[in-house]
Amino acid sequence: MAAVGITRIETYDAAAIRESFERLLDETGQSDFVRPGERILVKPNILAGFPPERAVTTHPAVVEAVLGAVIDRSAIPIVGDSPGGVLRGTKTVYAKTGIADVAKKMGAEIIPLEAKGARKIPLPDRQTLHISKIVDEVDGIVDLAKLKSHSLELMTLAVKNLYGLVPGFRKAEYHKIYPTPYKFAGLVVNLYSHIAPKIRLAVVDGIVGMDGNGPSAGRPRKLGIFALSDSAPALDDFVENFVGLKKHSPIVNVLRKRGLIPDYEVKTLPPAPEKPKNFKIPSNLHLYFLPAWFTRIAGRLVQVKPGVDEAKCIKCGECFKSCPGGAISMEIGRTPPKFDYSKCIRCYCCHEICPVGAIVFKKSPLTRLVE
Ligand code: SF4
Ligand code: SF4
Repeated sequence: MAAVGITRIETYDAAAIRESFERLLDETGQSDFVRPGERILVKPNILAGFPPERAVTTHPAVVEAVLGAVIDRSAIPIVGDSPGGVLRGTKTVYAKTGIADVAKKMGAEIIPLEAKGARKIPLPDRQTLHISKIVDEVDGIVDLAKLKSHSLELMTLAVKNLYGLVPGFRKAEYHKIYPTPYKFAGLVVNLYSHIAPKIRLAVVDGIVGMDGNGPSAGRPRKLGIFALSDSAPALDDFVENFVGLKKHSPIVNVLRKRGLIPDYEVKTLPPAPEKPKNFKIPSNLHLYFLPAWFTRIAGRLVQVKPGVDEAKCIKCGECFKSCPGGAISMEIGRTPPKFDYSKCIRCYCCHEICPVGAIVFKKSPLTRLVE
């Protein structure tokens, strides 16, 4: 039986978070989540170089609190992720998210995971999964996820956060091989299955989470949710229920289908967070809640295309560099992106990576009507 612990935290005060974290560990029987001398990868969600107040990345105060708990147990933490926008410089990304500062303060090393090389794992469908070699080098992983809506997978939580262990540009490449939300969810769950024995703890930072057009252009929302578990799938299942989704995300559905969500007990520590009212999902995914037979028949007529808000676009080229379909053309620094929809696979990587929220969802008249 897995254990999920949840409590309410109102502000990003590292000392207060540490106190709640230790209480949750006690209450859920996970105080020994690391042992002396172990090397532990602490894996925040560092999607790209967004400042903490945008609620795109795991907040540095949460990272600081967890690093403190690892260090006080005489284990050796290493902080690492493989962010998007890495072409702009990984150092800049860690600095902008505030995570470089807390790692320095706590004396923890930062390791850009793409610099470690990758281990290749054959998959049942004859594809190859690349996972950073750091996974082999550490004794355990602490998964520090951010609670956010997601324009492809509906939600990003603890299991999706592990996708950052795929180094660099390969993250976008897999969208070409697994172009639909469910195919991609299958890949993420395969990745989880390989890493699961190393996961010591999964934590979700929803103190300020994100709803709407996440995972980067949504609305930061004060939710007060801070939750952890020894099982990442159990934690995701619980959090999706808690925020009130009418239907689970593809990742949680695939986990369930493969029997990877264990039974779990929930411990709520006072003060309890309130269930969010009206947690908004990305506006391109409203059709996700329609019956499957309808979307099968309506096909491309109800798909949502990416477009650009030229007034917002700063012509940085991040979308162009991240597009796995080669569907974007532009002159970086001179013109906004143009889309070739015959090549677009609707992965929404461009939406995810745009630093200013300039990628918009263009809906057909039928889509708007159905909505
Ligand atoms: S749409 Fe966004 S990511 Fe693309 S060039 Fe404009 S600002 Fe950059
Ligand atoms: S244009 Fe955007 S949604 Fe289409 S393939 Fe490229 S990144 Fe994906």
